[in-house]
Amino acid sequence: MATSSEQHMNPNTPKDAAPAAASNFIRNIVEEDMRSGKWNGRVETRFPPEPNGYLHYGHAKSICLNFGLAEQYGGVCHLRFDDTNPEKEEQEYVDSIVEAVQWLGYDWGQHLYFASDYFERMYEYAEYLIRAGKAYVDSLSAEEMRAYRGTLTEAGKDSPFRTRSVDENLDLFRRMRDGEFPDGTHILRARIDMASPNINLRDPAIYRIRKVAHHRAGDKWCVYPMYTFAHPIEDAIENITHSICTLEFEDQRPFYDWLLDALAEGGHFARPLPQQIEFARLNLTYVVLSKRKLIQLVDEGHVAGWDDPRLPTLIGARRRGYTPEGFRRFAERIGVSKADSWIDISVLEECMREHLNEAAERRVAVLDPLKLIITNYPEGESELCQAPNHPLKPELGKRDMPFTRELWIEREDFMEAPVKGYHRLYPGNMARLRYGFVIQCTGCEKDADGNITAVLAEYMPDSRSGTPGADNYKVKGNLHWVSAAHGYQAEVRLYDRLFAHPNPGARREGDAEGLERSFLDDINPDSMRVIQAWLEPALKHARAEERFQFERHGYFVADRRDSRDGAPVFNRTVTLKDTWKK
Ligand code: ATP
Ligand code: MG
Repeated sequence: MATSSEQHMNPNTPKDAAPAAASNFIRNIVEEDMRSGKWNGRVETRFPPEPNGYLHYGHAKSICLNFGLAEQYGGVCHLRFDDTNPEKEEQEYVDSIVEAVQWLGYDWGQHLYFASDYFERMYEYAEYLIRAGKAYVDSLSAEEMRAYRGTLTEAGKDSPFRTRSVDENLDLFRRMRDGEFPDGTHILRARIDMASPNINLRDPAIYRIRKVAHHRAGDKWCVYPMYTFAHPIEDAIENITHSICTLEFEDQRPFYDWLLDALAEGGHFARPLPQQIEFARLNLTYVVLSKRKLIQLVDEGHVAGWDDPRLPTLIGARRRGYTPEGFRRFAERIGVSKADSWIDISVLEECMREHLNEAAERRVAVLDPLKLIITNYPEGESELCQAPNHPLKPELGKRDMPFTRELWIEREDFMEAPVKGYHRLYPGNMARLRYGFVIQCTGCEKDADGNITAVLAEYMPDSRSGTPGADNYKVKGNLHWVSAAHGYQAEVRLYDRLFAHPNPGARREGDAEGLERSFLDDINPDSMRVIQAWLEPALKHARAEERFQFERHGYFVADRRDSRDGAPVFNRTVTLKDTWKK
């Protein structure tokens, strides 16, 4: 912790919060479409989460990208729940996703959609494909179907059911819908090409029998569309112009185009058809972004729930004190590309710092308290010192900090035997109590075991900050403090990274062959420390989610869950500097 410089000023000059959008390959495509008039100036994107988990930092990238494009080009972005899988989907997730996207500051207006609302149309399109000879009911077992599919190097071969007549296919498909057959007995497949070098075009499945109720559609259906069939149709129904997804769908694009083209042939959709564009997903060091791993962290109690401030979920980020503006800044800074890469978590942390440096008022907190007694200050008296709420924004005014004979300072701000270069308190040395007086240390008190219990000092009555006398003293140390009589104790949680390794669970150099690591082994044992800190009186009235810089310590937020009126609990969002840099 530095002492003498203006530590309350973040050394990083704030970068422009909303820079003129840098170009990237997706913006280039949109610009080209604007120039050519392909969509008549229309930009319509969508964010299509499956409601089977909580949103995480990776989703924030996708949300900022999709909503950001719409914002930039005067278009709209839909929030669409891709709820085609009847299992694993729940209303709880729908609600949390709505809340998270709103929290990020985006607005879908009227455009809230559920894929399950299109089930009827999807079913009709499937029948159309059958009538057009572009789909058939296959009755091979799952195992046989796998064998018929071929491999990356070997062509597949036609199923004996591939030549069923249209009438037979229609009849079977309707009976599938009516619940006549058990799960897995029949499946509807697109008829494309079993010899295609792209395995995804070897007659992919488009409808399967699943006799389970759907969280919104109830038990109306016992056949459900496959994701790869449903998604392009959802896009086309909603008149999406640019359908942006992550790279793993690149090989699915030919089927996306095949399907929409077939349906346009049949007059079901007008051209131009939505264009699928893939980008590289966000990979971040020091976190895990897989739903499976996040669920494990919650279920096994490694964290305190989905909104644990250490979890890379968006509700966790919110409790941590991360800001929507910080996420947008981050999304802009990392950009989008086609190449998979890793982003260091410090980039995200720095984006949060930059925004908080601008937005957060300053306050004083003593996290590791040691008593300081001003022996020449009268007992029972006090006077008010003024501290600016924000060093760069005088319009935010000042607040009063009572100065008294007994104060709390940080334990590390006193050394009985100072090391070289130490400018804070040690016997004989002078330092400034920030926004208060210059004091000279005269010694300390100890208990029977030799532990320091109080620091003693005398203050210079003419040295008060903001008065002409203040300049008479040249001191290097500049300490923060809280009046023991007026400050108050409160719970503060010092959060840190959840994992101690950049790539949790990855093999390390020198690992024995066959050694299996689990990401759980890399959990940082110091990811949360709960302390009782001394806070300046002004903090007592902090509202839930109000954010502050605690001078010299970092950024903190009043916890939105555990804070009570007049008794806020604070979470550390991020330290003032990157303490992980080696
Ligand atoms: P699943 O494996 O269950 O599909 P998912 O993380 O892809 O998990 P979705 O609900 O399908 O979850 O994601 C919604 C959108 O967010 C998708 O368009 C997806 O591509 C995008 N997305 C998910 N993870 C990331 C990530 N790490 N970076 C960028 N975008 C992501
Ligand atoms: Mg997905």
